[in-house]
Amino acid sequence: MSFLAEPPAAERRVEVDLDAVRHNIRHIADVVSPARVMAVVKADGYGHGARQVARAALESGAAWLGVAHIAEALDLREAGIEAPILAWLHTVDSDFGAAIRDGIDIGVSGWELDYVVAAARRQQRPARVQLKIDTGLGRNGCPPELWDTLIGRALEQQDAGLLRVVGVFSHLAVADEPDRHETDDQVRRFRAAIAVAEDAGVDVELRHLANTPGALSRPDTHFDLVRVGLGIYGLSPFHGQSSQALGLRPAMRFVTSVANCKEVPAGQGVSYGLSYRTTHPTTLALIPVGYADGVPRVATGAPVLVDGHQYPVVGRIAMDQLVIDLQTTGIAGTARSPLGHPAVLFGGGAGEPSADAWADASGSINYEIVTRISGRVPRTYLNDTSASADQ
Ligand SMILES: *Cc1c(COP(=O)(O)O)cnc(C)c1O
Repeated sequence: MSFLAEPPAAERRVEVDLDAVRHNIRHIADVVSPARVMAVVKADGYGHGARQVARAALESGAAWLGVAHIAEALDLREAGIEAPILAWLHTVDSDFGAAIRDGIDIGVSGWELDYVVAAARRQQRPARVQLKIDTGLGRNGCPPELWDTLIGRALEQQDAGLLRVVGVFSHLAVADEPDRHETDDQVRRFRAAIAVAEDAGVDVELRHLANTPGALSRPDTHFDLVRVGLGIYGLSPFHGQSSQALGLRPAMRFVTSVANCKEVPAGQGVSYGLSYRTTHPTTLALIPVGYADGVPRVATGAPVLVDGHQYPVVGRIAMDQLVIDLQTTGIAGTARSPLGHPAVLFGGGAGEPSADAWADASGSINYEIVTRISGRVPRTYLNDTSASADQ
């Protein structure tokens, strides 16, 4: 006889609802149609699991996958994913040969071109290249004054059969603030760069500029394809505007259970530094996740949902644990104790705190909250219908 009908749930876990991802992809595809959707799954799918998210996104209408690193693209190929993939952030140590071998599009801002050409020569196969113009963000991308030179060099290698220029792209800087004029400037510079490429004889099959905020707020940034990350995970890129207001469903839920519950007197100090002291007799609940799990150490005050109520984190967040003050007495050790009950740090369900609340409490953004949950926390998947639900 077994005491356990089924294996116990992981003590702390990130649950990723792939139906939410599918819903978000369909919603965004609707909004941007006839432009198509590139699902951005860099950084292990913003912490959600790149392989699982990629499959769900492709099932529900995404046409492309986008990643920062070639290594991230190779991992998707290794998982058997054959969709078009673009990788855009390289170093001199990037494996351009493997990218060419695996049919991965390579974003090129300048110096990469020589490396890509050398790798294509070794592979005896032309590289697929997308040229990136810096329209104002000031990170990667070819400066506008060098653009026609880069186009000329790329066309020379294309004529030599070593590469094919498939697309032209750029990245937005302030689209999360839809009224800022700099986005207008970026759109103008992007159009000019495309014109230069076309006049030089490039057959520009794919033009793309928009990220999630551009896709959701600026139709003039849509072009042929939008590169959407945050939105497919169901999070809002706009401060003060919720996922729900945008028609998106948060896909990630970070849940554990109350690990201890005890009554304390007034004046009880809580956690390292004793920066919090109870003002009256109360009950403390211990939540067994901390900064080693990716909870921001500075997020004191952020909400945790227990038994239908949200309680703020009190005192310092430690490596493995944090504390909430239940502001009540007489429940520890009774049937009303929350010991063992679910504790939700954030999720998309009714009454659950949002990743945005954790972002606000830590002076950060929801992007960082979901992406930083560490490998110590296992991911589990809801609605994983993919035939190859391996990992
Ligand atoms: C990360 C990234 C995106 C996705 O941005 P979101 O705001 O998450 O949609 C798009 N393009 C590039 C170049 C990126 O680095």
